[in-house]
Amino acid sequence: MKEYFRNIYQAIATILIGMGVTLRHLFTRAVTIQYPHVKRELPSRSRQKLFVNMDDCIGCLQCARACPVDCITIENIKAGKDEDLGVTSNGQKKRMHVIKFDIDMAKCCYCADCVFPCPTECITMTPDYEFATYDRGDLLVHFSQYSAEEAEALRERDRKEKAALAAAKEAKLKAAAQAAEKKDKKDN
Ligand code: SF4
Ligand code: SF4
Repeated sequence: MKEYFRNIYQAIATILIGMGVTLRHLFTRAVTIQYPHVKRELPSRSRQKLFVNMDDCIGCLQCARACPVDCITIENIKAGKDEDLGVTSNGQKKRMHVIKFDIDMAKCCYCADCVFPCPTECITMTPDYEFATYDRGDLLVHFSQYSAEEAEALRERDRKEKAALAAAKEAKLKAAAQAAEKKDKKDN
Protein backbone atom coordinates (compact mmCIF):
# COMPACT_ATOMS: atom_id res chain seq x y z
CA MET A 1 0.00 0.00 0.00
CA LYS A 2 2.85 2.30 0.97
CA GLU A 3 4.55 1.54 -2.39
CA TYR A 4 1.32 2.36 -4.22
CA PHE A 5 1.10 5.88 -2.77
CA ARG A 6 4.84 6.46 -3.32
CA ASN A 7 4.36 5.70 -7.03
CA ILE A 8 1.45 8.15 -7.24
CA TYR A 9 3.51 10.81 -5.48
CA GLN A 10 6.49 10.24 -7.82
CA ALA A 11 4.28 10.41 -10.92
CA ILE A 12 2.72 13.72 -9.81
CA ALA A 13 6.12 15.16 -8.81
CA THR A 14 7.64 14.18 -12.19
CA ILE A 15 4.78 15.80 -14.10
CA LEU A 16 5.06 18.98 -12.03
CA ILE A 17 8.85 19.19 -12.57
CA GLY A 18 8.38 18.68 -16.33
CA MET A 19 5.63 21.29 -16.51
CA GLY A 20 7.87 23.66 -14.53
CA VAL A 21 10.62 23.32 -17.15
CA THR A 22 8.07 23.90 -19.94
CA LEU A 23 6.69 26.98 -18.18
CA ARG A 24 10.15 28.41 -17.63
CA HIS A 25 10.91 28.12 -21.37
CA LEU A 26 7.65 29.88 -22.25
CA PHE A 27 9.20 33.11 -21.02
CA THR A 28 12.72 32.74 -22.48
CA ARG A 29 13.86 33.70 -26.01
CA ALA A 30 13.25 30.94 -28.61
CA VAL A 31 16.39 29.23 -29.91
CA THR A 32 14.66 27.52 -32.81
CA ILE A 33 14.32 29.14 -36.24
CA GLN A 34 11.77 28.71 -39.01
CA TYR A 35 14.09 26.75 -41.35
CA PRO A 36 14.10 26.74 -44.39
CA HIS A 37 12.46 30.18 -44.45
CA VAL A 38 15.03 31.47 -41.98
CA LYS A 39 18.66 30.32 -42.18
CA ARG A 40 21.50 30.71 -39.76
CA GLU A 41 24.67 32.34 -40.99
CA LEU A 42 27.38 29.70 -41.20
CA PRO A 43 30.76 30.15 -39.51
CA SER A 44 33.35 31.35 -42.02
CA ARG A 45 35.36 28.10 -41.78
CA SER A 46 32.39 25.72 -41.99
CA ARG A 47 32.76 22.76 -44.36
CA GLN A 48 29.96 21.87 -46.72
CA LYS A 49 29.64 20.59 -50.29
CA LEU A 50 32.84 20.41 -52.34
CA PHE A 51 33.37 22.19 -55.62
CA VAL A 52 36.12 21.71 -58.21
CA ASN A 53 36.99 24.40 -60.72
CA MET A 54 38.07 22.14 -63.57
CA ASP A 55 39.61 25.03 -65.50
CA ASP A 56 42.36 25.02 -62.88
CA CYS A 57 42.65 21.28 -62.22
CA ILE A 58 45.91 19.74 -63.47
CA GLY A 59 44.91 16.17 -62.59
CA CYS A 60 47.79 15.71 -60.14
CA LEU A 61 45.75 13.31 -57.95
CA GLN A 62 46.97 14.89 -54.70
CA CYS A 63 43.41 15.43 -53.47
CA ALA A 64 42.42 11.82 -54.19
CA ARG A 65 45.53 10.50 -52.42
CA ALA A 66 44.83 12.65 -49.36
CA CYS A 67 41.21 11.54 -49.03
CA PRO A 68 40.88 9.15 -46.07
CA VAL A 69 37.70 7.53 -47.38
CA ASP A 70 38.58 7.25 -51.10
CA CYS A 71 35.59 9.20 -52.27
CA ILE A 72 37.42 11.06 -55.04
CA THR A 73 37.87 9.23 -58.35
CA ILE A 74 40.03 10.79 -61.04
CA GLU A 75 40.97 9.45 -64.46
CA ASN A 76 43.61 11.21 -66.52
CA ILE A 77 44.95 10.88 -70.01
CA LYS A 78 48.27 12.51 -70.88
CA ALA A 79 48.04 15.30 -73.42
CA GLY A 80 49.65 14.59 -76.78
CA LYS A 81 53.09 16.04 -77.63
CA ASP A 82 51.65 18.84 -79.74
CA GLU A 83 48.57 19.42 -77.62
CA ASP A 84 48.29 22.66 -75.66
CA LEU A 85 45.80 22.43 -72.78
CA GLY A 86 46.63 25.92 -71.52
CA VAL A 87 47.60 27.04 -68.04
CA THR A 88 45.79 27.39 -64.73
CA SER A 89 45.03 30.75 -63.14
CA ASN A 90 48.21 30.45 -61.04
CA GLY A 91 50.31 29.76 -64.14
CA GLN A 92 50.73 25.95 -63.97
CA LYS A 93 50.84 24.19 -67.32
CA LYS A 94 48.04 21.68 -67.84
CA ARG A 95 49.38 18.36 -69.13
CA MET A 96 46.45 16.03 -68.47
CA HIS A 97 42.98 15.54 -69.87
CA VAL A 98 41.00 14.98 -66.68
CA ILE A 99 38.33 12.80 -68.25
CA LYS A 100 36.81 11.76 -64.92
CA PHE A 101 36.59 13.67 -61.65
CA ASP A 102 33.88 12.33 -59.36
CA ILE A 103 33.32 13.04 -55.68
CA ASP A 104 30.94 10.80 -53.77
CA MET A 105 29.45 13.22 -51.26
CA ALA A 106 27.61 10.30 -49.61
CA LYS A 107 30.98 9.02 -48.37
CA CYS A 108 32.65 12.39 -47.72
CA CYS A 109 33.34 13.16 -44.06
CA TYR A 110 34.05 16.88 -44.68
CA CYS A 111 37.57 16.69 -43.31
CA ALA A 112 38.90 19.05 -46.04
CA ASP A 113 42.09 16.95 -46.35
CA CYS A 114 41.66 17.16 -50.12
CA VAL A 115 41.53 20.96 -50.11
CA PHE A 116 44.88 21.71 -48.48
CA PRO A 117 47.29 19.84 -50.80
CA CYS A 118 45.79 21.15 -54.06
CA PRO A 119 48.57 23.06 -55.85
CA THR A 120 46.13 25.22 -57.80
CA GLU A 121 43.55 25.71 -55.03
CA CYS A 122 40.80 24.57 -57.35
CA ILE A 123 39.05 22.20 -54.94
CA THR A 124 37.14 24.11 -52.30
CA MET A 125 34.45 23.77 -49.68
CA THR A 126 31.34 25.77 -50.56
CA PRO A 127 28.66 27.07 -48.14
CA ASP A 128 26.09 24.76 -49.81
CA TYR A 129 24.71 22.28 -47.28
CA GLU A 130 21.27 21.82 -48.80
CA PHE A 131 21.77 18.81 -51.05
CA ALA A 132 19.77 16.10 -49.28
CA THR A 133 18.26 13.65 -51.73
CA TYR A 134 16.21 10.44 -51.79
CA ASP A 135 18.65 8.79 -54.19
CA ARG A 136 22.22 8.16 -53.01
CA GLY A 137 23.33 8.14 -56.64
CA ASP A 138 22.57 11.86 -56.83
CA LEU A 139 25.34 12.46 -54.31
CA LEU A 140 27.97 11.30 -56.80
CA VAL A 141 29.02 14.64 -58.23
CA HIS A 142 30.69 14.70 -61.65
CA PHE A 143 33.05 17.60 -62.30
CA SER A 144 34.85 16.60 -65.48
CA GLN A 145 33.94 18.73 -68.45
CA TYR A 146 34.50 15.91 -70.97
CA SER A 147 31.48 14.17 -72.45
CA ALA A 148 31.33 10.35 -72.35
CA GLU A 149 32.18 10.24 -76.08
CA GLU A 150 35.16 12.56 -75.73
CA ALA A 151 36.44 10.55 -72.76
CA GLU A 152 36.10 7.28 -74.65
CA ALA A 153 37.87 8.75 -77.70
CA LEU A 154 40.78 9.83 -75.48
CA ARG A 155 40.92 6.40 -73.80
CA GLU A 156 41.02 4.77 -77.22
CA ARG A 157 43.80 7.12 -78.36
CA ASP A 158 45.73 6.32 -75.17
CA ARG A 159 45.28 2.57 -75.67
CA LYS A 160 46.61 2.84 -79.22
CA GLU A 161 49.57 4.97 -78.16
CA LYS A 162 50.48 2.56 -75.37
CA ALA A 163 50.12 -0.43 -77.72
CA ALA A 164 52.37 1.30 -80.30
CA LEU A 165 54.94 2.10 -77.60
CA ALA A 166 54.88 -1.50 -76.32
CA ALA A 167 55.27 -2.83 -79.88
CA ALA A 168 58.18 -0.46 -80.54
CA LYS A 169 59.84 -1.56 -77.29
CA GLU A 170 59.35 -5.22 -78.14
CA ALA A 171 60.78 -4.70 -81.65
CA LYS A 172 63.80 -2.94 -80.17
CA LEU A 173 64.41 -5.77 -77.71
CA LYS A 174 63.98 -8.34 -80.47
CA ALA A 175 66.46 -6.48 -82.70
CA ALA A 176 68.95 -6.29 -79.82
CA ALA A 177 68.57 -10.02 -79.13
CA GLN A 178 69.06 -10.84 -82.83
CA ALA A 179 72.13 -8.60 -83.00
CA ALA A 180 73.57 -10.32 -79.90
CA GLU A 181 72.85 -13.73 -81.42
CA LYS A 182 74.54 -12.73 -84.67
CA LYS A 183 77.58 -11.46 -82.80
CA ASP A 184 77.81 -14.72 -80.81
CA LYS A 185 77.74 -16.75 -84.02
CA LYS A 186 80.40 -14.54 -85.61
CA ASP A 187 82.67 -14.80 -82.55
CA ASN A 188 82.36 -18.56 -82.52
S1 SF4 B 1 36.55 16.45 -47.48
FE1 SF4 B 1 37.74 14.68 -46.73
S2 SF4 B 1 36.42 12.93 -47.08
FE2 SF4 B 1 35.56 14.63 -48.29
S3 SF4 B 1 36.48 14.34 -50.33
FE3 SF4 B 1 37.81 15.76 -49.18
S4 SF4 B 1 39.37 14.41 -48.25
FE4 SF4 B 1 37.68 13.10 -48.89
S1 SF4 C 1 44.78 18.34 -56.09
FE1 SF4 C 1 43.75 20.00 -57.20
S2 SF4 C 1 44.79 20.06 -59.18
FE2 SF4 C 1 45.32 18.12 -58.25
S3 SF4 C 1 43.78 16.67 -59.07
FE3 SF4 C 1 42.99 17.45 -57.11
S4 SF4 C 1 41.72 19.20 -57.65
FE4 SF4 C 1 42.99 18.76 -59.42
